[in-house]
Amino acid sequence: MNINLGIHSPVEQINDPLFNDKGIQVFIKRDDMIHPLISGNKWRKLKYILLQAQSQNKTHLVTFGGAYSNHLLATAAAAAKFGFNSTGVVRGEQVDNDVLLLCRLHGMKLIFTNRDSYRDKQALFNLHFGDDSNAFFIDEGGASAEGVQGVAELVNELPETYDHIFCACGTGTTAAGIINGLTRVKLDTRFNGIPVLKGGDFLRAEIDKYLNAPSNYDLHTAYHFGGYGKVTPVLINFIKQFVVSTGILIEPVYTGKMLFAIYDMATNNYFKPGSKILAIHTGGLIGLLGMRDKFV
Ligand SMILES: *Cc1c(COP(=O)(O)O)cnc(C)c1O
Repeated sequence: MNINLGIHSPVEQINDPLFNDKGIQVFIKRDDMIHPLISGNKWRKLKYILLQAQSQNKTHLVTFGGAYSNHLLATAAAAAKFGFNSTGVVRGEQVDNDVLLLCRLHGMKLIFTNRDSYRDKQALFNLHFGDDSNAFFIDEGGASAEGVQGVAELVNELPETYDHIFCACGTGTTAAGIINGLTRVKLDTRFNGIPVLKGGDFLRAEIDKYLNAPSNYDLHTAYHFGGYGKVTPVLINFIKQFVVSTGILIEPVYTGKMLFAIYDMATNNYFKPGSKILAIHTGGLIGLLGMRDKFV
């Protein structure tokens, strides 16, 4: 089985009077268009992980996530597409929702586990699959050196040079990949990460451990809106406005917070006139289905 997806991720300009006023240009790379379920950065992270599983003749992918995890869904869909079996170990008591339905439809078996035991993923893997020689461990979110390697390829696809690249950060794996990609082609594009969790400074260590060379980058830690998965009316209104005025669908857990940051920083004259800024749309749109009540 040839493990690959043709990458369709065009760069589009976002037109907004704010950006004209400030003399800047803002673009968005549509990694959400790579695949509807194997959402942008999750495919990039999975690519070399799946190739590694294949090279070790493993046929059963085992991974971990919360009940609305984009990574679980991406792994389920990728497993079905590339001929693997899959199991998702889900944090928390047994539930059902739209994301888990889609996981099951792609053949993923689900194991629910309490929050205490969830902390030690390797122990859970050994407990359930210790004697299954076909089973292959994939960490939560695809966090791994292979994940970083896959994301770095994004940089090769850029049609021009930007002054800034912005990306939402969860584990920081995607950030590390983009930074490594920029270093490799010797671009002095500034990387800007928007941690979606509270206290995002811890990400610096997570990112740095994957960097091929020391690199200067910025984490803007004030755009978490209360923490992971948390939203406020200001964020929700921004997202509605953005979707209506651009026709580009975004969600509140990741891309909404990242784009809010760009608009807010532009308003506050953070960018030099003439700057070109690229936002990465990392996908994850199915997660919107879990936030129905936030959009009333
Ligand atoms: C998982 C995810 C991220 C975060 O990626 P990390 O590599 O964990 O930092 C960003 N955006 C979306 C849509 C995601 O699903």
